[in-house]
Amino acid sequence: MSFSIPLFSLNFDEIEEKAVIEVLRSKWISTGPKCEELESLFTGMLQVKHAVALSNCTDALHLACRVLDIHEGDEVLCPSLSFAASANCVRYVGATPVFCDISGTDNLNVNPVEIEKAVTPKTKAIIVVHFAGFPCEMNAIMQIARKHRLKVIEDACHGPLSEYRGKKLGAIGDIGCFSFFSNKNISTGEGGMIVTNDTALHQKIRLLRSHGMTSLSYQRAQGHVTTYDITELGYNFRMDDIRAAIGVVQLKKLPTDLQKRQEIRKQYLEELANIAEVIVPFADNREFVTNYIMPVVLKNSTPEKRNRVRNLLHEKGIQTSVHYLAIHRFTIYRQVAKNLPITEYVADNEITLPMYGALTKENIHYICKTFKTIMKFDFHE
Ligand SMILES: *Cc1c(COP(=O)(O)O)cnc(C)c1O
Repeated sequence: MSFSIPLFSLNFDEIEEKAVIEVLRSKWISTGPKCEELESLFTGMLQVKHAVALSNCTDALHLACRVLDIHEGDEVLCPSLSFAASANCVRYVGATPVFCDISGTDNLNVNPVEIEKAVTPKTKAIIVVHFAGFPCEMNAIMQIARKHRLKVIEDACHGPLSEYRGKKLGAIGDIGCFSFFSNKNISTGEGGMIVTNDTALHQKIRLLRSHGMTSLSYQRAQGHVTTYDITELGYNFRMDDIRAAIGVVQLKKLPTDLQKRQEIRKQYLEELANIAEVIVPFADNREFVTNYIMPVVLKNSTPEKRNRVRNLLHEKGIQTSVHYLAIHRFTIYRQVAKNLPITEYVADNEITLPMYGALTKENIHYICKTFKTIMKFDFHE
């Protein structure tokens, strides 16, 4: 089925094409100068000391757990209302994710009160996910972390350039992780970035990104060094320069794209206010945010009703999605599953509406009008 209004659309034009061709013609296509350019652009825009380009955000989260010395026997607190990678990373290093419920149907971020309640002597770290780019309550979370000596990893995949009280998301905790997967705010196909203000962590991250080797091929090709040692058991989590070149263009386009998304969100808020049975999460947000996605939650609903509404929207050419299925309900998490009533309600009754810079006023109006008609019809059934 093809949709007249897709969920997401790439913000690509001939600038990305030109950037890729330039790299191909330069004859250096793996990790090199374009990755360095992307990293330095990122540190500047995110006001953070260090950034390391990676193959994806899953690797960033994995590296974060590894360099923060999280291991078997440790517990890590995290939300379940996220993509599975936010919890899988804990298991890659042999530790156990402990899921915490979100604040409410109007605030889909993890609840600091639930985090504090879940702390045990085994707790080593907190992973927060800034849902749709809206900041978690970082003051409360950092305070809990200091009190119990916990590390904080920010899964900031949804929030490059989002802010929390003057700080950029990803730069508040010990480590921030970003994704440049196709449908993210910055798209490179696959790709990611890890950021930190801690110089020792940064050095370790750089080493582990490339097999624990003390020099990169690019440095050796430049004649700066001729050999290398392997001092840690590392990985191949590198980004290549072809993707980095797309990333540089995308990052430069980001501020303009985010402005458009802000206007789109504003129109959505105005028009959705006319539908009584719909909650728009984070409606009272005053921070500058990315609006990575446009989530809504149906009131007094059931999964069957939500799915019926989604199908009707799809029939009208409007693509939707669900964020998220709730990690703790997946088969591989059965043994650590617990009761998370708000997360489960949202997983069962959330609908993600289209969000991308090229959406027109007419598109948004059509989506909201169609949605309203469907909701009305559904009620009188
Ligand atoms: C996309 C996403 C990831 C995974 O990123 P990849 O780059 O695809 O590995 C992790 N966490 C969240 C919240 C995401 O949205």
